[in-house]
Amino acid sequence: MIIEMHPDSSQAQVKEVEHKARSLKLDVQMNLGTSKTIVALLGDNTGQIDTDLFAVLPGVQSVTRVMKPYKLASREFKQDDTTINIDGLTIGDNRIIVMAGPCAVENKEQLMEAARAIKRAGASVLRGGAFKPRTSPFSFQGLGKDGLELLVQAKDEVGLPIITEVLDTQHVNLVSEYADILQIGARNMQNFNLLTKVGKTLRPALLKRGLSASVTEWMAAADYLLAQNNTQVSLCERGIRTFETSSRFSLDICSIPVVKQNSHLPLIVDPSHAAGHYSLVSSIAKAAVAAGADGLIIEVHPNPKEAMSDGLQALTPSDFARLMEELKPIAASLGRTI
Ligand code: PEP
Ligand code: MN
Repeated sequence: MIIEMHPDSSQAQVKEVEHKARSLKLDVQMNLGTSKTIVALLGDNTGQIDTDLFAVLPGVQSVTRVMKPYKLASREFKQDDTTINIDGLTIGDNRIIVMAGPCAVENKEQLMEAARAIKRAGASVLRGGAFKPRTSPFSFQGLGKDGLELLVQAKDEVGLPIITEVLDTQHVNLVSEYADILQIGARNMQNFNLLTKVGKTLRPALLKRGLSASVTEWMAAADYLLAQNNTQVSLCERGIRTFETSSRFSLDICSIPVVKQNSHLPLIVDPSHAAGHYSLVSSIAKAAVAAGADGLIIEVHPNPKEAMSDGLQALTPSDFARLMEELKPIAASLGRTI
């Protein structure tokens, strides 16, 4: 249930709503907007609590039952776009944010080369996996803590914030000591304990869409982060499993306007994992920006032929630099910058 308070309502009136909700064993989340306060009441799963119980309270302007399975990620809860601030960099405003770097941190030289190249080309966040979710246990699993240390060295040298995946609840504290943005991978989208633990850190998080998750399931998963009062959540479309085998996954281009219409959270698109092949990445990236994505996350490797993971889908630094140039007029045509 979403309660919109009257713009002139007092703090005492908001408290009264909260008190009533708690007496009915409901959880309460506030969106204290600049012009009005929205109160989300969570936990009325059977829809049996009468909305009039709240509509009659002083200061309440409207009461709406949200029928969607996701609440906090919805535009009903928060109409204005969420923006995320990382040391002066804003995700979710007019500027399209490009995150780039290797699939996995392999060694210092590889990471530094990638970091310098993506910075030169105009990317604003460095990506790199230290803990890797590999399909086979015999594949390279990442450098772990050593990889995190290298990411921080690269961050210090090129001056870009870093995003890296947290695979496991056990590593949340460790990864959040190093990363500016905690990435939750597609395979963990419904690892609810992990989501809750990452939510509790109150650190910026990027939630990738599960391989076979509907948009609704993905938004409901975002609610797990938001329910911990973590407002710094972005979503990432990275392609879903379909019957099509000519690309690694099928990028759901429809999900871009669907998410933007129904959620206030910033949306980043990962064309690399959807494509699975470097020759497809640039076209998909351009389509994603044209469709309204707030940012991109792209795999770039200084020498894709030698990559220890996802080399086939990695762009070379020069292909990445070309893509960055090609994205500019597309962004400009939408009144955005990149
Ligand atoms: C990655 O970003 O390297 C990754 C493993 O992505 P996903 O979780 O989308 O497969
Ligand atoms: Mn990868």
